[in-house]
Amino acid sequence: MTLDQRDEGKPPDRRRLIPRTDHVLEDDRLAAARVRLGPDAVRRAVHAAQERARAGHIPPESVADAAVAALPSKLWTLRKVINATGVVLHTNLGRAPLSRAAVDALVDASGYTDVEFDALTGERGRRGAGMLEALLSRVPDAEDGHVVNNGAAALALAVAAFASGREVVISRGEMVEIGDGFRIPELVAAAGGRLKEIGTTNRTHISDYAQAIGGATGFVLKVHTSNFRVEGFTASVPINELAGLDVTVVADIGSGLLAHDPLLPSEPDVGSWLRDGADLVTASGDKLLGGPQAGLLLGKHHLVHKVRRHPLARAMRVDKLTIAALEATLRAPSSPTRDAIHASDELLQERASTLADTLVARGVDAAPIPSTGRVGGGSAPGLALGGWAVQVPEQLATPLRTGDPPIIGRIEKGVLILDLRCVDADDDREIVRAVETALSSRASSDSPACT
Ligand SMILES: *Cc1c(COP(=O)(O)O)cnc(C)c1O
Repeated sequence: MTLDQRDEGKPPDRRRLIPRTDHVLEDDRLAAARVRLGPDAVRRAVHAAQERARAGHIPPESVADAAVAALPSKLWTLRKVINATGVVLHTNLGRAPLSRAAVDALVDASGYTDVEFDALTGERGRRGAGMLEALLSRVPDAEDGHVVNNGAAALALAVAAFASGREVVISRGEMVEIGDGFRIPELVAAAGGRLKEIGTTNRTHISDYAQAIGGATGFVLKVHTSNFRVEGFTASVPINELAGLDVTVVADIGSGLLAHDPLLPSEPDVGSWLRDGADLVTASGDKLLGGPQAGLLLGKHHLVHKVRRHPLARAMRVDKLTIAALEATLRAPSSPTRDAIHASDELLQERASTLADTLVARGVDAAPIPSTGRVGGGSAPGLALGGWAVQVPEQLATPLRTGDPPIIGRIEKGVLILDLRCVDADDDREIVRAVETALSSRASSDSPACT
């Protein structure tokens, strides 16, 4: 017993009323949580609640309730985020969101699955055969294909397979940094290739390539300058001219666009580059393709075969979850990435008006406004995607960002812009709910209303 009130007359020391841990743990709700979350997480929640009671923040009899309220709802820390930035492929927000089909495929593959098993014969099957078939049917110009963990791995594997200890000829205008300080030339060098830089930052000609090619050449590397544009006095050599050189041409296209998209006029696609004469094209799975993180290698059969048999291919092998999600992405008629880029202006405007009206009715200073989105993720630099957003007071930015799910907008000229391009229409309700929550906690903390 912790109850000790023999000193009648004196006010009882409330802290002595705090229930003991083993006593609190007998609570049915906490016992159930121990099964779901494990004993440590529950114990931590109880200790935290006891601490709050000791500090006088909650009454001792509320310890069990407070511990239940403090339990984590999940064992993992990654959460769904509502992307109201208007940037379709936001690297900080996980790049491409998966389609419903890809999510269902992930779930199917999450247990035992026939990833490398042929149920018809009862024998070993080719790993990811369905995914590869889906990939090749989307890129008929590729003789063969292989999938690794990401775009960088695809390029590294190509270097290891065809240019280990040999020269990789690359234009100085294409020596790009892809993000977070990672640079293509350093990747090539780390994979064992020797860089043979040619041309200048703004201009490289076919004669520069011709002069550089020799007995030590592994391949010519063409890199799509995916995240910036050079304007003015510039020249680079297109694939169809490089294809005329007597050398293997590997092309890092980055974005993973498989076929031309008229909305992205300057964005090259794998099919076109192969038709233009690239021998091998590397690309990402989670940029414009709209799938899981993956790296694609597509092109000539003999090159893909060599890549596939390289020892490092095993170190970069994709798991069953990627295989499942990528195949579903490839077979689905569209992807959330494509849908967001192609979102109808009218529908966005309609949603923005409805959402703004709903918020105004709750006393928020909200209005629909035109908003310019971007593709992002190092794709289609400079391309403006005209769309619609709801503007709300800037003070809502922090409560919305720190809510659950976090809602991430853009702050511009003292207001918070919630761009609806990448927000699932079903999540418009979540935005209303989050604003209501922000307003009610504001009201209870007695600060001025937001309108
Ligand atoms: C994004 C990108 C990469 C890296 O691909 P990841 O899938 O992020 O590893 C490489 N090259 C180019 C041109 C890119 O745009």
